[in-house]
Amino acid sequence: MTKIILATRNAGKITELRRILSGDVLGGSGAAARAGVPAGDSIEVVGLDAYPDAPDVPETELTFEGNALLKARAVCAHTGLPAVADDSGLCVDALNGMPGVLSARWSGRFGSATGDKDRANLDLLLDQLADVGDEHRGAYFVAAAALVLPTGVEHCVEGRMYGRIIGAPRGAGGFGYDPVFVPDGEERTSAELAPGEKDAISHRGKAFRTLADILPEALAAAR
Ligand code: IMP
Repeated sequence: MTKIILATRNAGKITELRRILSGDVLGGSGAAARAGVPAGDSIEVVGLDAYPDAPDVPETELTFEGNALLKARAVCAHTGLPAVADDSGLCVDALNGMPGVLSARWSGRFGSATGDKDRANLDLLLDQLADVGDEHRGAYFVAAAALVLPTGVEHCVEGRMYGRIIGAPRGAGGFGYDPVFVPDGEERTSAELAPGEKDAISHRGKAFRTLADILPEALAAAR
């Protein structure tokens, strides 16, 4: 059993990575399983709740990859164990790729004052796009997933989900900008997809599956 630490206290992300490693994702047979490793048996994913003293690492880099590596390095250094971290955000064509790495903080202190930052971020985005025509409402989510091993070896992969921003929120699932994002090939927003459906096409699902593909070999090489 190899323990890897996922650098998050978000239970949803931990469940998602476990689901991907065990192959329980729509449209996929399990990346680690495809690599010939019974990942559910051999890799244990543990979140940061098991390490209350782990440092809270500010996302100070200007790229998703930079922030994911920053967090994975800090957690690997703290625990002495292989660490995985992700960073993600929404890139909107009409905003030249913003909010990007600022997605979680887009509404700044105004959002913090409302008590529902996700909603404030989303409302601000809709206001900014109010006069933008359908033909220019393209956007994509990006997730970078980094793996840092105690040997110093580092890997970072990326996943994307392309789609468009609609004019008003729909759906109660997901989080963040999901209620205003319609993935390509869908009529539903990503907040209207079942969790497994979103995993199968999402930026984070893709990044985690790519990481899961290289994980068994990377861990074996570090032994
Ligand atoms: P982080 O990766 O936890 O730093 O999240 C970055 C921010 O990007 C989140 O707070 C959301 O605003 C946005 N975001 C990232 N992934 C998603 C998603 O799957 N749905 C909706 N919003 C997302």
